[in-house]
Amino acid sequence: MVNFLIFGPPGSGKGTQSVQLSEKFNFIHLSTGDMLREEIAAGSELGKKVESIMQKGELVPDSVVIEMIANRIDNNPDCAGFLFDGFPRTAEQAVTLDNMLEDKSTSVNKMIVLEVEHNELVQRLLSRAEVSGRADDRDVNVIENRISVYKEKTEPIVNYYREKDKYVPVDGMGQISDIFDRLSIVIADSL
Ligand code: ADP
Repeated sequence: MVNFLIFGPPGSGKGTQSVQLSEKFNFIHLSTGDMLREEIAAGSELGKKVESIMQKGELVPDSVVIEMIANRIDNNPDCAGFLFDGFPRTAEQAVTLDNMLEDKSTSVNKMIVLEVEHNELVQRLLSRAEVSGRADDRDVNVIENRISVYKEKTEPIVNYYREKDKYVPVDGMGQISDIFDRLSIVIADSL
């Protein structure tokens, strides 16, 4: 089993690229953002708990996302690989993921970081709001908060993986198909 992390600020294209990459490489795509939005759409207790946090662009508690991810890993013992999108997002999530994978005798192969300029991120999210209807994409202040939360809480884990020689930056500017080709090369090289 292989495990890739797709990393980058909000609007960097993680979701779009993850869907296509999972199809190409036959990976299971694990997006904590999608899972949380499904809980909200279903009106579950968990969904009610996280809705206002997500609307503000803050992070939901580590325990919530860790439990969701642990369930998916446990329920798919025979898959070719996982593509983690939007997880881990804090140091605690990163350490927990490593321990969970170690228990299954596997580990993170690479952390692929999509690099995109700040103005481009904001523009992409505002355009996405028109089609996605996502509450956290509609308001520039919420978008800026999400980018700040990324810088403060999530970006530091780049170093955690860099020290383990797993960090690979990829240019996330340009055409979706060109970025897909760049990412595909990184994954194919690490299989
Ligand atoms: P984006 O990367 O565009 O912000 P996501 O769909 O990955 O979009 O995340 C949307 C929101 O879901 C985040 O702002 C946060 O509130 C919550 N979320 C998603 N993944 C996590 C996580 N691993 N830890 C904490 N909160 C998360």
